[in-house]
Amino acid sequence: MLLKHFNFHSPKTLESALDLYDRLPDVRLQAGGTFLLNSLKMLKRRGAKTPQNVISLAHIDELKGIKIKGGQLVVGAMTNIDEIYGSPLLTGNLNLLKVAARNISSQLIRNMATIGGNLACRYTWTELPAVMVALEAKMHFKGARGEEEIVAAQDFFKNAAKTDKILTHVTIGKDDGVSAVYFRAKKSPYVDIPLLSLGIKTRFVRGKFTETVVAVNNCVAFAQRDRTLEGFLNKSRIDENIPDVALDHLDPAIYDARSSDYKKHMFRVGIRQALRDLTGRHA
Ligand SMILES: Cc1cc2nc3c(=O)[nH]c(=O)nc-3n(C[C@H](O)[C@H](O)[C@H](O)COP(=O)(O)OP(=O)(O)OC[C@H]3O[C@@H](n4cnc5c(N)ncnc54)[C@H](O)[C@@H]3O)c2cc1C
Repeated sequence: MLLKHFNFHSPKTLESALDLYDRLPDVRLQAGGTFLLNSLKMLKRRGAKTPQNVISLAHIDELKGIKIKGGQLVVGAMTNIDEIYGSPLLTGNLNLLKVAARNISSQLIRNMATIGGNLACRYTWTELPAVMVALEAKMHFKGARGEEEIVAAQDFFKNAAKTDKILTHVTIGKDDGVSAVYFRAKKSPYVDIPLLSLGIKTRFVRGKFTETVVAVNNCVAFAQRDRTLEGFLNKSRIDENIPDVALDHLDPAIYDARSSDYKKHMFRVGIRQALRDLTGRHA
């Protein structure tokens, strides 16, 4: 199906992209295009209005790449999921990002889809939001007049992932003293999108959980923290019973939201498995 007519802009610098974003009416950004092009087709099929202008970020080199700078992992918004998976920098706590990237859809999608698109597309089911919340990432934006904004991932998703700026990169503190695990369940055997996902990060100090973050994506709301489970774990010692006992300390508002019995069951399976992995690794 052909798309409706629109003007396609392909700037080579962030500055010119920001200038276009400021000046043009009725504009949408394109990163990897895997959601955007589909959504333009859907709008056409429904006879709805489509944007007049699309700005592609594909040729802006300053938005690409992964590096460590000052103890922080810096990932450009236009870095694709396959590059993230292949990066040798993702060790220690950052391995959580590698595991999540490996699980995303098919090789074709991983080659095109970007971390920026995954985080800023405002679909509640994409997986990197929970990863960013678990790893306490910071999201860096630039506005039309060059103003910079740095937002903690958990605050960005608490505010329903709204922005009128361009996401330029994310930063995550590299910390080899932290343990982190990821779990996801598939929605269907046919299309590989998640039913739910979660990331848990903790620092074990003298046999106890500390600084634990439990980030849950129930796929019907944006990624959020389960403070009830975090509170329980942060008062707990590592113990073989913890993965089971922890299931009595969940925030039901997160897990019961529009969940089938199967989904609620899979949350419990995931949390138990994630905690077994975490405590087993530390044993
Ligand atoms: C068949 C299929 C299966 C998938 N399976 C999974 C899966 O299992 N797990 C998963 O996590 N994801 C999955 N995805 C989603 C995929 O990983 C991409 O994240 C997603 O498609 C958007 O990334 P993109 O780079 O293509 O963004 P685009 O489609 O190009 O952009 C989408 C929107 O994001 C916003 N945006 C993009 N970049 C920026 C930026 N730098 N600043 C501000 N706003 C921006 C814009 O509003 C833009 O219109 C799947 C997608 C498809 C099509």
